[in-house]
Amino acid sequence: MNEISSENGEEPPSGSLLNSLKEFKSAGRGLWSDVPDKDWNDWRWQLKHRITTLEQLQRLMPTLTPEEFAGTKLANTKLAMAITPYFFNLIDPADENCPIRRQVIPRVEETHTASWEMSDPCGEDSHSPVPGLVHRYPDRVLFLVTDRCAAYCRYCTRSRLVSNATGYDFHPEFDKQIAYIRDHPEIRDVLLSGGDPLLFSDEKLEHLLSQLRAIKHVEFLRIGTRIPIFLPQRITPELCAMLKQFHPLFISIHSNHPRELTTEVREALGRLADTGIPLGNQSVLLKHVNDDVTVMKALVQKLLMCRVKPYYIYQCDLISGSAHLRASVRKGLEIMEGLRGYTTGYAVPQYVIDAPGGGGKVPVNPEYVLSHSPDRVVIRNFEGKVFEYVEAAKSAPRYKPSEDFVAPELV
Ligand code: SF4
Repeated sequence: MNEISSENGEEPPSGSLLNSLKEFKSAGRGLWSDVPDKDWNDWRWQLKHRITTLEQLQRLMPTLTPEEFAGTKLANTKLAMAITPYFFNLIDPADENCPIRRQVIPRVEETHTASWEMSDPCGEDSHSPVPGLVHRYPDRVLFLVTDRCAAYCRYCTRSRLVSNATGYDFHPEFDKQIAYIRDHPEIRDVLLSGGDPLLFSDEKLEHLLSQLRAIKHVEFLRIGTRIPIFLPQRITPELCAMLKQFHPLFISIHSNHPRELTTEVREALGRLADTGIPLGNQSVLLKHVNDDVTVMKALVQKLLMCRVKPYYIYQCDLISGSAHLRASVRKGLEIMEGLRGYTTGYAVPQYVIDAPGGGGKVPVNPEYVLSHSPDRVVIRNFEGKVFEYVEAAKSAPRYKPSEDFVAPELV
């Protein structure tokens, strides 16, 4: 059952819904109860037993809808399907609108594309001086290391290349990528992403990180990964011990719904935090997944309990075939209004739109500055109350009120 509605179909009070969404539960064993612990807790076993075909999915989930059936049949021509047994257990097979299900089970709507949708909505390919390296911002680069992930998100911005279903044939050449970074002293920050870098063996990842750490002007390393959510078994003590050598190293995880934060995930994130790695979370705003203030509030509060700072909420990129998953910007702003002031400042992420075509991340905020003249700024707080702040002397206004603006009554 979708937890947004109660058993008798009425909306539960938002306080009790919030508390139930914030409970930490194990994903359990589900249909794999006879698998020995040693296998279940082994990340390589999880990868080997991923659900990747329509036949497997139908057998495990006879409640597949016609849209899912048709979508899964076509998935291997667009973005492959893969779901770890661990993550599969979070799906509610009785709920067609299960927020976990919508993220990983293909639907036929993925084949419906509009003229404004793109295969490379962030213009990454046009900002790649060498294959697999995106240099869009002045002092940092995105280093794509692989086209494989533990599971595939149906709205993935990089679905043109991840899983190689469209024949993109991604072959990063680490030597060329590293040589470019070495030759550009302005690059002080390298973000490893993909695909998912934590799918590499410890040895392979260590070799790559060592080469980057050996470059004097690289001050700061980051890894973008959804592995702690799809495959928390991968966060082993050995991996953590290896990563510890490369500080300052930050990790950005990707979680969209509070139900993804299980006891297994909390433990995995705890191991990373104990290693001294600062953790941030990136969420994508998705229709019928997390486009709801209470769901998003539960997610950000639960993230803090997992020692993760909610970092970004992304407006879903205009990736081809994603209309059924895209929520409106209006909804995103409504969610930001519902977080700011109503919960801990640390829990409030930045809402951004990655400007289509390669303009980079643009922060999008509800309007809190109502007017700005040379001598005063009129602002409103989260409750809508209006205040005046006297400007510093001789300040030039950043915002001009429109001519018909009438100053609101002050508190
Ligand atoms: S884990 Fe990241 S790169 Fe992989 S499919 Fe999901 S969004 Fe795309």
